[in-house]
Amino acid sequence: MSYVTRLTCVCCDREFAEGEATTCPGCGPDEGILDVHYDLPSVATSLTRDALARRSLSHWRYRELLPLDEAFCPTSGTIGWTPMIEAPRLAEALGIGRLRLKDEGRSPSGSFKDRASSVGVARAMQEGQRTLACASTGNAASSLAYCTAAAGLETNIFVSQAVPDGKLAQLLAYGARVFKIQGSYAQAYELCTRACERFGWYNRNAAINPYLVEGKKTGGLEVAEQCVDDPPDWVVCSVGDGCSIAGVHKGLAQMRAIGLIDWQARMLGVQAAGVDAIARAYETGDLDRSGAGYTYADSINVPVPRNWRKAVNAVRDSNGAFATVTDEQIMEAVRQSGRLAGVFAEPAAAAAVAGIAGARHDGLLNPQSSVVAMITGNGLKDIDGAMRAVGRPHEISPDLDQVERIVESDPSS
Ligand SMILES: *Cc1c(COP(=O)(O)O)cnc(C)c1O
Repeated sequence: MSYVTRLTCVCCDREFAEGEATTCPGCGPDEGILDVHYDLPSVATSLTRDALARRSLSHWRYRELLPLDEAFCPTSGTIGWTPMIEAPRLAEALGIGRLRLKDEGRSPSGSFKDRASSVGVARAMQEGQRTLACASTGNAASSLAYCTAAAGLETNIFVSQAVPDGKLAQLLAYGARVFKIQGSYAQAYELCTRACERFGWYNRNAAINPYLVEGKKTGGLEVAEQCVDDPPDWVVCSVGDGCSIAGVHKGLAQMRAIGLIDWQARMLGVQAAGVDAIARAYETGDLDRSGAGYTYADSINVPVPRNWRKAVNAVRDSNGAFATVTDEQIMEAVRQSGRLAGVFAEPAAAAAVAGIAGARHDGLLNPQSSVVAMITGNGLKDIDGAMRAVGRPHEISPDLDQVERIVESDPSS
């Protein structure tokens, strides 16, 4: 048994029993995303500080707040409990009082997605499935390939021509069957959906599967625990589909609901200026589905986001805000995070840092603000994106004179 009581549609509030539906049939798969509810009073009696002190430092330590029967929830693992890195020099450069970076780039496959994929895989095993599938060019796919490899299951990944080499290499290394589609990402997504119906594979296509946000929630549960006596004013997440910020906020809210923390933090959602449908929906109350726009930060290059309502609710419920940042500001944040905090972030992750700069400029943050930023992915994921931001080496022949000339012209770097 799990502590899940019911699911509700984020669009019309209709209730469902567990297993009754994946999306709300009345609102359809585009709008009718479900949210998972728990028996929080019972959770509170079991998930106590004492209980947590005895558990493994992995995201499975929060099992009462995961949608898994006890028999299918591991007790230890390799995901979660990523470090909170104090970044005083970066905080100073950004003009805020304190900054902590939660470095999700240290997850096994290098991104925050491992939290979601691992819960998806455990859920698939609970439902008796042995083969999974997903369509993605990015971290969701490499993360699923990692989690299935670790669990001994099979996975099929549908990618478009645009897949970056680093992520393709990860997929193949983890032993996924990779279909590289001669067509667009939308066609890859569609083909994956049809293949899942045809072969009965478990579909990890992220944003519509309500159980995956529950995995991302562990990021928020951890922020709560790691900052228990030392709360931040703001928690910052970059936003693509919207699942990450929704999960982190839900984790913080549930820790408060069960009495493990007594504070609230405001959520700052950061979108790329070119792909900002959720930030605009926050203002207008409606999603622009035209699908226009582009950012070079590929993990948040999501023109038609699927989980926009949960993201908007997370910001609204926490009295938070959205910020938008240009690709140039994201590149600056890649450089700053590396140099001033020792954290090599992929562009979509550095966007969170860029958003802090923007929010400070707009007066949302001040010189006293204490901020936690989720660094959602590792810079090695996207070498081309990093190289565009970080400059070039000095090309010289093996000659000390040339070294001297460069050192003398620029003693500081
Ligand atoms: C997926 C992803 C995001 C955004 O998460 P959403 O749930 O799509 O909003 C941010 N950064 C990285 C590195 C990601 O892989």
